[in-house]
Amino acid sequence: MPVLWARVNGAARSRAVRGGRPERWGGRRRVADDGMIVKVWGARGSLPCPGPRTVRYGGNTSCVEVRCGDRRIVLDGGTGIRELGHAMADEPPSTVDVLLSHFHLDHIAGLPFWGAAYVPDNRIVFRAAQLEQKVGLREILHKMMSPPLFPVPLDEFRADVRFEEFACGTLLEPAPGVQVATRLLNHPGGACGYRVTYAGRSVAYVTDTEHTPGQDDPNVLDLMRDADLVFYDSAYTEEEFRTHHGWGHSTWNEAVRLADLAGVKTLALFHHDPKRQDSDLDRIAEAAAAARPGTIVAREGAEFRL
Ligand SMILES: [Zn+2]
Ligand SMILES: [Zn+2]
Repeated sequence: MPVLWARVNGAARSRAVRGGRPERWGGRRRVADDGMIVKVWGARGSLPCPGPRTVRYGGNTSCVEVRCGDRRIVLDGGTGIRELGHAMADEPPSTVDVLLSHFHLDHIAGLPFWGAAYVPDNRIVFRAAQLEQKVGLREILHKMMSPPLFPVPLDEFRADVRFEEFACGTLLEPAPGVQVATRLLNHPGGACGYRVTYAGRSVAYVTDTEHTPGQDDPNVLDLMRDADLVFYDSAYTEEEFRTHHGWGHSTWNEAVRLADLAGVKTLALFHHDPKRQDSDLDRIAEAAAAARPGTIVAREGAEFRL
């Protein structure tokens, strides 16, 4: 047990020390092989914002787990992924695909604190699109986990870790029966949107993207079309959007418009601005649901069975 790791995450350490495997595969989180379960571990953008004003929607940054039968896909490694690690500590080792939208800190800052990466028998594949960055996926994470930024280096990960890059736009098949469509989003430096399809269900993850008023982004529509559930970048209000052109984010009003256009079943507003308090998000939830019945504001801990 590396000393540095022990400082990072006590929960997973105690599991490793305990040894042995829980008797039940997946425990209460087990899902039927023909189903998809989606759980939000972090719904914020830009910066974590814990505190009394963000208790109900949560303060952790972007992380969404998608269970396809017994296979686990994780969309982004924002600070929410730390809690996912705690949940995984009670389960036997598994294979996890972590799909990163891009490398802005709010989407990767939780990775050094993700207990699952330090458990020897887990198999983890980090995947990211080749966007505008000139350095590779492994090198970027290595930089983030290097002194003086962070004391525990990347090679302290004890899981069987792989790093795979792909051209944005290609179709990934991380496991038999699990397909992931990828599309380029409009964001400074680029970002990759995802659509995970399994057993006839689809969830789209469209965050860190800016729309152009009056235009339909074909990439975004590709990802959203007829999806059962869509997470969409709703960082700004329409008023804020007017003064934030070029910042790479969108609005809940645009989310509603696109969801109608694409025939989305359930729309979940996502990537909340850290200054948005629970009461602000309540008001947005009300207005968005009035504009498109069934629309919700994503909150930490929300679970969807598709
Ligand atoms: Zn972001
Ligand atoms: Zn970003």
